[in-house]
Amino acid sequence: MKLANPDLLKFQNYIDGEWRDAEGTAEVRDPANGELLGKVADGSAADAEAAVAAASAAFPEWSRRTAGERAAVLKRWYQLIMDNSEDLARILTLEQGKPLAEAQGEIIYGASFIEWFAEECRRAYGQTIPSHNPGMRLSTIRQPVGVVTCITPWNFPNAMITRKAAPALAAGCTVVIKPALETPLSALALCRLAEEAGLPKGTINVVTGTDAPGIGRVLTQDPRVAKFTFTGSTAVGKLLMAQCASTVKKMSMELGGNAPFIVFDDADIDTAVKACVATKFRNAGQVCVATNRIYVHESVHDEFVEQLRAEVAALKIGHGTEEGVNMGPMIFRRAVDRVQGLVQDAVAAGAKIEIGGEQLPNGENYFAPTLITGVTDNMRIAQEENFGPIAAVQKFTEEDDVVRRANDTPYGLAAYVMSENIRRANRVVEALEYGMIACNTGVFSTTVAPFGGTKESGIGREGGVEGMAEFYETKYCCFGA
Ligand code: ADP
Repeated sequence: MKLANPDLLKFQNYIDGEWRDAEGTAEVRDPANGELLGKVADGSAADAEAAVAAASAAFPEWSRRTAGERAAVLKRWYQLIMDNSEDLARILTLEQGKPLAEAQGEIIYGASFIEWFAEECRRAYGQTIPSHNPGMRLSTIRQPVGVVTCITPWNFPNAMITRKAAPALAAGCTVVIKPALETPLSALALCRLAEEAGLPKGTINVVTGTDAPGIGRVLTQDPRVAKFTFTGSTAVGKLLMAQCASTVKKMSMELGGNAPFIVFDDADIDTAVKACVATKFRNAGQVCVATNRIYVHESVHDEFVEQLRAEVAALKIGHGTEEGVNMGPMIFRRAVDRVQGLVQDAVAAGAKIEIGGEQLPNGENYFAPTLITGVTDNMRIAQEENFGPIAAVQKFTEEDDVVRRANDTPYGLAAYVMSENIRRANRVVEALEYGMIACNTGVFSTTVAPFGGTKESGIGREGGVEGMAEFYETKYCCFGA
């Protein structure tokens, strides 16, 4: 891998300010062609324990610094990431597969959390409370929760780390991160820059390893850990929540979704099609807020489908580092097989493939961007998060009915509404049981707004003022007469 700053390529774990080997190593491969990118330390539960011990030891000093002092270090980290953004994007594309332009976007998005929370931590105001008793004085102060552990996924190997680590560090917490097995290099490169920025030893630790359950048990059950934060599948999230119960840890969970995308008859069809492409095919559909069920009013259905088919046909597929590529491979073969199965199941039940629907000859992890119509709510493709480049369209006629269908899922992460009628848009936005609603756009994530889900899509919010609050305890102080 050719980088302007080769020092960013790290293959050891970062524990207590040291780069450490583990007992064995694990291979990291390019999902586009299977090429070996390197072998990282295959950390164990014992390494996770060492990292928690280091984070615990580093907490008193880091938490006692002023917010301004912590902010200064975090701003250096932010600047180093921006200065090295091209290399970081390259590492990300090579281990994850997304097109380089998307990877560059992720690096900037990821860095923006560090800048935002560095600013936000200076405003950790408490309150003075009008007392119920004339002799008493009541107030609150906000203090960092303590050691924070994070488990992150492979679909956003950079931003899912900064969105957790930045507010935690800004609040005065120390962190231990276990990145996904598929994408450890982005995490280690971020850590290398954190070291250079001057984060003290033990404040940030990364443990990579194939024994995710063993490492996960330490991060969710060690009594020295105050808070656990996870992004990943709902199934694993539920397991980890149960593990956290043993020591009543604070928890944040960003889990799966089943996003509806509703196109009303009063929508601007161009806008709707562009928004749909943006939410559906970015990162080959491997995004928790990606559109999963597309509901189109019967009177605009054919026009919408025709335009969407043309957009899908125009997508350029290939290795993420190639010029002009819009979509790369999926992360691994298992994901391709799953998506293929969902399409076959839908077709067997009467859906029609308009375009795509098969693997591509580019390599074993490539699946064609696909549009299918005639989908119904009982098909697996409408019930499960497809997490792939499959646009699955169904028709509707009545507003009440489509809102009911859109809400009829255990998930509640993101939903999309396309309508030029402001009264309808407001009504539907309020009626949808989701944590985030995008109206007339397919792109909505930003540092300054709260990201998170309702129902089985999660607990807590990341980003915005809410994202900072997750890492403080509010302490009530009562001074007697
Ligand atoms: P995905 O299906 O997107 O890979 P997962 O929920 O399986 O989502 O993975 C998200 C993160 O959770 C990854 O870092 C993965 O290594 C980790 N993980 C998976 N299973 C476990 C487990 N049993 N305990 C702890 N971490 C796990």
